[in-house]
Amino acid sequence: MSNPKQNQQQDYDFFVIGAGSAGVRFARMAAMMGKKVAIAEQYRSGGTCVIRGCVPKKLYAYASRFASDFDVAKTFGWNIQHTAFDWNILRDNKDKEITRLEGVYNNLLKNAGVEIFHERAVLNSPTSILLTDSDVIINANHIIIAVGGTPRPLMIGGVSAGMTSDDIFDMESLPKKIFIYGSGYIAVEFACIFAGLGIDVTLGFRGHGILTGFDGDIQTHITTEFLDKNIHLVPDLTHDKLSLNNGILHFNHQDKDYYFEHILNATGRSPNTKNLGLDKIGVQIDKNGAVIVDKFSKTTIDTVHAVGDVTNRMNLTPVAIKESMCLLQTLCHDNPTSPDYENIPTAVFTTPEIGTVGLTEQQAKAASYSCDIYESRFRPMKYSFSDKTTKTYFKMIVDKKTQIVLGVHIIDNMAGELIQLVGIAIKAGLTKQQFDSVMAVHPTASEELVTMRTPTRQI
Ligand code: FAD
Repeated sequence: MSNPKQNQQQDYDFFVIGAGSAGVRFARMAAMMGKKVAIAEQYRSGGTCVIRGCVPKKLYAYASRFASDFDVAKTFGWNIQHTAFDWNILRDNKDKEITRLEGVYNNLLKNAGVEIFHERAVLNSPTSILLTDSDVIINANHIIIAVGGTPRPLMIGGVSAGMTSDDIFDMESLPKKIFIYGSGYIAVEFACIFAGLGIDVTLGFRGHGILTGFDGDIQTHITTEFLDKNIHLVPDLTHDKLSLNNGILHFNHQDKDYYFEHILNATGRSPNTKNLGLDKIGVQIDKNGAVIVDKFSKTTIDTVHAVGDVTNRMNLTPVAIKESMCLLQTLCHDNPTSPDYENIPTAVFTTPEIGTVGLTEQQAKAASYSCDIYESRFRPMKYSFSDKTTKTYFKMIVDKKTQIVLGVHIIDNMAGELIQLVGIAIKAGLTKQQFDSVMAVHPTASEELVTMRTPTRQI
C-alpha cells in the first residue's frame, strides 16, 4: 500500500466535507469573508435537498395535483376533453432543473473563491483530510463535517428490499401499483404523489397511525383524506410480517395476501458517518451514528465541527443552513452563536398540505398548560361546484393564562405557504387577541386565523 501524497502547499482555513445545504452555505460565506476554503463532494453539489429531496419532491407533488385540478376546472365550465400523463417528460424536466441548480451551486462556490474537489473525503487527523480518489492529504485549521444522511435499507431475510427516496425519482417507468413502507413525512408525501399520478398505493407502517409526533387532529384529518384518495392503509405491519421472494414482497393483512413488485422503503434515514474516519481521530458518535456536537456545533475534537443532518438535530434544509450561519458567527466573527430550535414551522407536502408550528395539543397537555382550542373545518371554496370531499382544517392552541398562541396546525392546499407566515407570529409570541386585532382578508381560507371566536374545547 502506498502512502497518500501530502499536500504541503495547499493549507486551508476550512475544509468542508459535503456540498449539501449545510456545507455549501458555510463554505461560501466563509470564503466571501476572505477565508481560504475548500469543499469535497462525492456525488453532486446541492446535496440531498436539491438532487434527491425537497426540490424534486415538490416538483413531483405539483405534477400529481393536476388530475384533480382538471376535474375541478370542468365544474367551472372548462371543456377538458383529453388528459394524459407522461412520466418521461416529468422525470426529464426534473433532471434538467436539478442539473441547472447543481450548476448554480457550483458557480456560487467558485465565485466565492471556494476550491471544489469532486470526490470523497475522509478524516485523516484533527487538522487534515484524505481525498480518497486522488489519494491526497490536505491540511486545514478547521474541518467542517456536513455529510448529511442516507436512507436506511429495509433488510428482509438478509436482502435489501425495494427502492429508497434516492432511487424513486429516476424510475424508468411508473408502476401500476406500489407499496410504501413507512409513516413519516417522506412516506406520506410519496403516497400522495403516486396516488395523484393514478397509481394504486398501499401504505404500510409499524404503528397504529401515520405521522407520529404530529398533532392528533392533524393525524386523524389527513388519514381521512388518504382514505378518500383510496390510499390503502395497513397499520401494525411490523417488519417480521414482511417476506421477500424473488424481489416480490408479501404480507398477510386481515386474512388477505398482498404481493408487491414495486416497493418504496421510507423507514428513515441514518447519518452518513460510516467509514468517515471519525473513530480514527476521536470524534464521537451517538447510538444512531450521528456526530455528537455541543450547542456551537463543535464535536469532541476542538478543530472539527459538524452541521446539518449528520448531527441528527432537526433534519430540515433551513435548519442545516441556520446551523452553518451560526457556526460562521462562532468561528469567523468571534461571536459564539447557537441555533434556536423552538417554534420551527414545517410543512408536509401531502395533498392537501400540512403546515405546523409550535406545540401540538398533546405536547401542551404534557407540559401542563391549560389551553383553549380553536378549530375550524370547512370545504374549500374552490370545490364549491364539485363533489370533492377534501376539507380545510385550522387548529389554534392558546394558553388560557397568557392568551399566547402556542401552536397552529393547518391542513389546506396552501398550508406550506401559510405556516411560514404564521411562524413569524408564533415566534414573536403573539396573543390570540393580537391575531384577532388584524383585519381579515376576505374571501380566503386563512381569514380563519383571525376570526375563530369561540374555543371548540378546553384542555
Ligand atoms: P445533505 O444535503 O445530504 O448534503 C450532504 C452532502 O455530503 C451530499 O451531497 C453527499 O453526497 C456528500 N457527502 C457525504 N459523504 C461525503 C464524503 N465523505 N465526502 C464528500 N462528500 C460527501 N427538508 C426540508 O426542509 N423540506 C423538505 O421538503 C424536505 N424534503 C425532503 C425530501 C426527501 C425525499 C429527503 C430525503 C429529504 C428532505 N428534506 C427536506 C431534508 C433535507 O433534504 C435535509 O435536511 C438537508 O438536505 C440536509 O442538508 P445537509 O447539508 O446536512 O446534508
